[in-house]
Amino acid sequence: MGHGKIERLENEERSAMRGLAGEELLRAWECSRELPEQQAVLALLELADPERPAREWARLPLGERDALLLELRAATLGRRMEGFAVCPACGAELEFAVDARELAEGLRTPAAPAAQPKGIAARPANTLDLLASSAATSAEEARAILLARTACADGEETEAVKTAEGAERWLKAKPRRVAERLAKRFEQVNAAAEIRIELSCAACGGGSVIELDVARYFLREIGAAARRLMAEIHELARAYGWSEAAIAGMSGARRAAYLGMLGT
Ligand SMILES: [Zn+2]
Repeated sequence: MGHGKIERLENEERSAMRGLAGEELLRAWECSRELPEQQAVLALLELADPERPAREWARLPLGERDALLLELRAATLGRRMEGFAVCPACGAELEFAVDARELAEGLRTPAAPAAQPKGIAARPANTLDLLASSAATSAEEARAILLARTACADGEETEAVKTAEGAERWLKAKPRRVAERLAKRFEQVNAAAEIRIELSCAACGGGSVIELDVARYFLREIGAAARRLMAEIHELARAYGWSEAAIAGMSGARRAAYLGMLGT
């Protein structure tokens, strides 16, 4: 067991993801309100590790990005993540709990290489691809943008990569069989970035699988954590007249101790 502990410490050191606290947590919450989801995720990662240029975060494959996001979540709010889902068979509410660091490890473990369809190369999708596809006006357009961007060589300045119309034209010009292979390849390359959680329902015994959207889940949690912090700041500022910055800069334990003295 001792050996396992050492390994874990080394892993934590390697990840070097510092948790968001105080003023950073409030800024993260502001970003999540002001920015579209994918940009908010990048803003959160930048807050946690400002040394790394923004372009680098945006170019990380989504699996890697989400593994870092899970580490940031573990460092900020702890490893245990709880959630709710609805049983698709009977409608009962299902609770689940997962370990953020284990999920991050899972995303990093390379899957067995899938058989590649001949002549189709593709890189894993990243945040820039999601941002480009989020500007699409239809689901087909969004799909064409993702396929064009990930199948064309990185940095290749083709019409297909520059505009939504270009991406649609590029995909439509492909024979149907090639288009199908492109779609299949995309699924294979990006399957590793998905987190599936198997649930079984105590009420009806049915099993179901949900997909966890790490970005959305964590942004929502950041919102809840920031509101809790603001409620504490509100109470302490009203009672003692301390500044927002001073209260936000305290440890959670110290704030809790003062709140305890106030009897709230
Ligand atoms: Zn059920």
